[in-house]
Amino acid sequence: MEEVKHETIRACSIWRALEVVGDVPVLLIMEQAFLGRRRFDDFVVQTGVARSVISNRLEKLVEADIFVKLRERGAGYRLTEKGRDLFPAALMVQRWQHIWASGERDMHVTLSHRDCGHVMHPLAVCNSCSVEIDPRMVGWEAGPGLSEVTPAYGRRRKQSAAATAKRSNKTMTDSVIELFGDRWSTLVIRACFTGISRFDDIQRDARMATNILSDRLERLQNQGILKAWPYSSHQDRFEYRLTAKGRDVYPVLLALLHWGDRWYADQKGPPLLLTHKSCTHDLSLRPVCSGCGGTLHIENILFETKR
Ligand SMILES: [Zn+2]
Ligand SMILES: [Zn+2]
Repeated sequence: MEEVKHETIRACSIWRALEVVGDVPVLLIMEQAFLGRRRFDDFVVQTGVARSVISNRLEKLVEADIFVKLRERGAGYRLTEKGRDLFPAALMVQRWQHIWASGERDMHVTLSHRDCGHVMHPLAVCNSCSVEIDPRMVGWEAGPGLSEVTPAYGRRRKQSAAATAKRSNKTMTDSVIELFGDRWSTLVIRACFTGISRFDDIQRDARMATNILSDRLERLQNQGILKAWPYSSHQDRFEYRLTAKGRDVYPVLLALLHWGDRWYADQKGPPLLLTHKSCTHDLSLRPVCSGCGGTLHIENILFETKR
């Protein structure tokens, strides 16, 4: 097996955010937390993940200041301000699932907006001009806080989402959770969103061993996130481009980037500056209701889950 050592990658806020939440069990716990679950046993039952894994991840989430463990016995966990600040990212996951993942999992979530009473799905709009965000209309520029990090992967990172899901006979995960639960896949996607599309260029940007990159490119194609296009007369030369389904992951990435900027950026400023080409303002995402266009907050949404 090939190994790449002492190589660095761009440490943008997406990367920093994923160091905390880029893990399948963590994403499943966060999803349940936003659906109102608080108790350890509920997390175990609802996610289908082993108790020991849930316990380990809850401990990490308390360390990361995302949850507070309540003192009363059996009271469970409460999201902190930092944890609640992940709500836009959770909504963008819901948005993606609403559009692309029907049938991919056995849990179906219906959202309604208290302010207008509509059953709705969240939309991602630019905070300045209220136009729906299309990644092709976003300019990227290195910011003052851009640095390089050496990616470190623990052994558990190699465990695939599928292996985690096998512990229960439920289909718990869908492609968006699998994607954000695997940091190699996220690095490939990040490269694609910054206009990098050829094997060697992605490899250089993400600093991953070629066998790992080949595996992730294949997985992302099977999930319908990427499509390979020949770019020269050589039949084996491909460019990897995001499909519509893949491009639609962008609001999740953007919400994580905002969260990482808010909670992990250093004093120098954000590592990445984004501009909305449609209105020329700095880009920030606002989740809104598809029914009335009103801004969505953690307090004005109702969730209903069906299995
Ligand atoms: Zn705008
Ligand atoms: Zn509404």
